Amino acid sequence: MSEQYDLVVIGAGSGGVRASRMAAATGAKVAVIENMYMGGTCVNVGCVPKKLFVYASEFSAHLDHAEGFGLEVIKKHFDWKTLRDNKTKEINRLNGIYNKILEGPGVEIIRGTGSIKAQGIVCVGDRELHTKRILIATGGWPFKPNVPGIEHAIDSNDVFSMETFPKDIIVVGGGYIAVEFAGIFKGLGANTRLLYRGDQILRGFDQEVRDYAAQEITKSGVEISVNTDIKAIEKLANGRISCTLTDDSNIECDTLMYATGRRPKTDNLGLEELGVTLRKDGTIVTDDQFETNIPGVFALGDVIGTPALTPVALQQGMVFVDQQFGEGKRTIDYKLIPTAVFCQPNIGTVGLTEEEAVAAHPSDIDIFTSEFKPLKHTITGADERTLMKLVVRRSDDRVIGVHMVGEAAGEILQGLAVAMQAGATKAHLDSTIGIHPTAAEEFVTMRSVTRSL
Ligand code: NDP
Repeated sequence: MSEQYDLVVIGAGSGGVRASRMAAATGAKVAVIENMYMGGTCVNVGCVPKKLFVYASEFSAHLDHAEGFGLEVIKKHFDWKTLRDNKTKEINRLNGIYNKILEGPGVEIIRGTGSIKAQGIVCVGDRELHTKRILIATGGWPFKPNVPGIEHAIDSNDVFSMETFPKDIIVVGGGYIAVEFAGIFKGLGANTRLLYRGDQILRGFDQEVRDYAAQEITKSGVEISVNTDIKAIEKLANGRISCTLTDDSNIECDTLMYATGRRPKTDNLGLEELGVTLRKDGTIVTDDQFETNIPGVFALGDVIGTPALTPVALQQGMVFVDQQFGEGKRTIDYKLIPTAVFCQPNIGTVGLTEEEAVAAHPSDIDIFTSEFKPLKHTITGADERTLMKLVVRRSDDRVIGVHMVGEAAGEILQGLAVAMQAGATKAHLDSTIGIHPTAAEEFVTMRSVTRSL
């Protein structure tokens, strides 16, 4: 028997859930199909459990620092299973909340694998759903390159359910996931080595920020090896993993993790049969309305190749619903996406890097930087330092980039992103009264230009 919907969403991750419930709240008849976990990557194997692990990984350093303040701390043994299982309890609770926030406005949740049979028809199990609009929000999945022995390596999804915590781990990659997980493993006590094929981690970030972050991460105890890669992996008789590097040297570990990017999840959706245009990397091509080349078939989130960030998918979901079921006034601005890397210390960034700014506005850029030891560490004895950086377009005084490497950079940058959306100039920052004593106040007290470019 066929059923008629206004919207059928495939994938109950950040983008799919937001679009489903906002659409249903307008009175539309909506179904969302999910074959794995409610909330997608972010809730189950991404942002949320990762951040819980990041908190866990910071305690050890905090306990070390406490001594300088007179607190004698007897360090306790770290129990991985307690952390893992407490995390899982919280994720299960969130899964339940996701069910509720969908059921509230009347979204029908269908457990199963959805595929598109034809324009306006989605199949799931033995059901056939007829719908005015199909929205693909299937997200991405970790990618591991085809290296001999790659089956011995884990990916970021696997970390969340590991049976035992590594004693020594090699993490391959130099992006968000590699850098964040290297910090987690190190902070929780594993000997951690990060292997990256390029000459500096975090390609795409501001060069000065990359160099500074690499230096701070190294200080925290992660061994970073650049310009290297693994060409073969072997599991030894004693259970350890031996990796042959591009220079033919060998290194060993008990756990090998690949964090070498993610690929869109578009298998078995029926896209090829339908003729949906994909890019070479497998992402789905859409227009500004999130519509593919097939009328009535839409896509958003990680699967369309825009920045793979939960807040981007959420915003896309709201814009999509406004365009399809509302007034069509909402837009999304990809230029000023604030983002953080939750390594130790954090990186926070919004707007242009110094390199991008100089390329876009040659001979019109002023760089302001502040580099210091945080007040807390004057007593802890830790050698962690902080970098803050403003990129300003001289001709109109506009702040076009803000970057930070330091504790709570992710928290601090959100407010700066609002200021930039509102068109903040350097004069606006200068006339803002600081909150003293904080690290954040440095952003409103940088008086002299570090360099003009
Ligand atoms: P990224 O694309 O950020 O990084 C992938 C890394 O793997 C790069 O350093 C890349 O090197 C390297 N790499 C790719 N292919 C190979 C290969 N064949 N051999 C060796 N190295 C390789 O992906 P991530 O998996 O780290 O993260 C995916 C996305 O998820 C991020 O881009 C981000 O959008 C999102 N994310 C956001 C977080 C946050 O907001 N805090 C946290 C985690 C993820 P190269 O630089 O040379 O290409």
